Amino acid sequence: MSSDADRIVIIGGGVIGLSAALAAVESGHHVTVIDPAIENYAEGSGASWMAGGMLAPVTEAWFGEEARLALDITALQAWPTFATKISHTAGQELLISRAGTIQIALDIDDARDLERVRTFQNSMGLKAEALSRDQLLDIEPLLSPQVVAGSLISTDLSVDNRALVNTLRLACAHSGVEFIPQEVTSMNQLADRVTVVRTAAGDFPCDEIVIAAGAWSSHILKMVNTDSENEIPVIRPIRGEILRLKSEITAFRHTLRAHVHGFHVYLVPRTNGEVVVGATQFERGFDARPTAGGVYELLRDATELLPYVKEMEFLEARVGLRPGSPDNAPIIDRVPGVSNVILATGHYRNGILLTSIVGDLVSALLDHRDLPASASLVSLNRFSGVTR
Ligand SMILES: Cc1cc2nc3c(=O)[nH]c(=O)nc-3n(C[C@H](O)[C@H](O)[C@H](O)COP(=O)(O)OP(=O)(O)OC[C@H]3O[C@@H](n4cnc5c(N)ncnc54)[C@H](O)[C@@H]3O)c2cc1C
Repeated sequence: MSSDADRIVIIGGGVIGLSAALAAVESGHHVTVIDPAIENYAEGSGASWMAGGMLAPVTEAWFGEEARLALDITALQAWPTFATKISHTAGQELLISRAGTIQIALDIDDARDLERVRTFQNSMGLKAEALSRDQLLDIEPLLSPQVVAGSLISTDLSVDNRALVNTLRLACAHSGVEFIPQEVTSMNQLADRVTVVRTAAGDFPCDEIVIAAGAWSSHILKMVNTDSENEIPVIRPIRGEILRLKSEITAFRHTLRAHVHGFHVYLVPRTNGEVVVGATQFERGFDARPTAGGVYELLRDATELLPYVKEMEFLEARVGLRPGSPDNAPIIDRVPGVSNVILATGHYRNGILLTSIVGDLVSALLDHRDLPASASLVSLNRFSGVTR
C-alpha cells in the first residue's frame, strides 16, 4: 500500500461493509471499518449475524422481479469463486452447502401454487423439478406424512452466515484493514466533501466514505450535508425473528421451505448439527426483542413440516433487522450533492447472497468506473420523490 493511498472509511462492518473493505484494500486503498459490533456481533442486531444463510435466488424468484433475479443469479454464480478466494485470504475454509432446497406443499392449494411458480422458474431457464409425495419422503424421510408435493431446486446453495462474517473479518484483517469498535456519531465536511468521520474514541480523516450500516444507513446519511435537489430514499428496518436449534441426528439434508398457516417457514441445516428456523417479517422500528408469539409461530410451523423439530435442543431466538429500500432492492451508488460518499445498503432479504458481488461494485465506484449493465438495478437513479 503506498503512503498516498486513498483513505477509505467504511461505516458498518456487516457482510456488506466487510466485503467492500476487502475489495477496497485489495485495490490498494488504506481502509478503516468502524462499527460498534465489530468485536462482538452477538451483542448487536446486525442482520448479517442473524441471517439464515440461504443463497437461494431460484427459490425466491418471483413474477415481475426479473431484473432483481438476474442480479441474484449473477451473485449465486460468483459464490464458489468468492468463497475460495476469501478462504484463501483468511487462512480458514468457508464451506458452502450444495445440497439444494426443497419447496414443500402441505395441501392441494399450495401444490397448485408451487406448480405455477415452477412453471415460471422453468420459463426463466431456472432448474426446478417436480417431486411427488413419495419422492419427497424418499429424499427426506422425516418430513411430515402430510406433505403433498414439492419442487427440488438443486442449484440453490447455503452458507453459515456467522462463519461468513468471521471469514470476511479475518480476510480483511490479514489484508491490512483497520477495525474501530465504535459508533460513528458525526462528520466534518468542507464544501461538498466529508473530511472527517467522528466517534467517541477519536476522529478519522477520510478521502472517501462508504455507508454500509444496514438498517441504520439513513441515520448515518443524515450526518452528511448533501445540499442537493436530489432526495435520497429512506432505508427502513424490517425485523425478522429467527431461531437456532441443534439436532443430535442428521434430520434432513436440504434446505426445507414451505407455506404453513399463511406464513413462510424455512429450515436450514448446518454441518455441525445446528438448524436455523426462520423467519418472521414485519416492521416495528428498531425494536430487536424477540416476541413469544414470533417464536411460537416459527416452532409451530417448523414442527408441522418436520415433526422431529420437537426433539431438537433450543439454542437461541434472536431478531435481525433487514435493511429495506423503498423498492426492497439494493442501493450501491455515489450519493448526489456530495463528492465522496458511497451508499451500499438496502440488501433486504438477500444481503448474504449479494455479498459475493458487492465488493467489486463498491470497488468500481471508488475507482470511478462504471458498474456493469447487470447491476443497473442498484443505481439511485431509479428513485424520485422519496425523502431521506
Ligand atoms: C432473520 C433474517 C434472515 C435472513 N436470511 C437471509 C438469507 O437466508 N440469505 C440472504 O442472502 N440474506 C438473508 N438476510 C438478509 C441479510 O442478512 C442482510 O441483507 C445483510 O446481512 C445486510 O448486511 P449489512 O452489512 O448491510 O447490514 P448489517 O449486517 O445489519 O450490518 C450493519 C452494521 O452497521 C453497524 N452500525 C449501525 N450504526 C452504526 C454507527 N452509527 N456507526 C458504525 N456502525 C454502525 C451495525 O452495528 C451493524 O453491524 C436475512 C436477514 C434477517 C434479519
